[in-house]
Amino acid sequence: MPAGFDDILLVAIVFVVVMLAAFWLAMIIWAYRDMRSRSRDPLAHLLVAIIVFLLNAPGLFIYILLRPRATLSETYERSLEEEALLQEIEERPTCPACGQRVQHDWQACPHCHHRLKKACVNCDYLLELPWNICPRCTTSQVNYTSDGTIATNSRHVKPSEPAPIDAKWVASQQVE
Ligand SMILES: [Zn+2]
Ligand SMILES: [Zn+2]
Repeated sequence: MPAGFDDILLVAIVFVVVMLAAFWLAMIIWAYRDMRSRSRDPLAHLLVAIIVFLLNAPGLFIYILLRPRATLSETYERSLEEEALLQEIEERPTCPACGQRVQHDWQACPHCHHRLKKACVNCDYLLELPWNICPRCTTSQVNYTSDGTIATNSRHVKPSEPAPIDAKWVASQQVE
């Protein structure tokens, strides 16, 4: 046996041992981090690290088989998507009379002919039926009740009466 062979063997063994130890440590850290991205429970993080520490590569394999399917960020994203979808459904208006889907800019329901909105008599801006003044041009409006009929006894739309908002607006202009 040539001199120095033992030394080379020793160096090789040490190298292999260090490499294995590094892999082992890396596996523990990886499993710990991976579990942390999938669970908020600190006990579960620790448990996973201990399992990989004790069982090594088989432990890691078992962990990968059994770990929670979705990461926390994936779960969060999915909940956001569901929320957005739900909001979209809620925001889509329906006809109060027949319940069919309608559009925001429709004046009447095409299914049951229920009055949905009215156009401003001055600027054609779409108004909710109970509104008696146009928020855009402040013109007084024909008043519809919520069931879509014209409210003939409305006290808001007498042409001789000045719109209350006009008086307020003029007053505020004078103060400034
Ligand atoms: Zn309808
Ligand atoms: Zn208007």
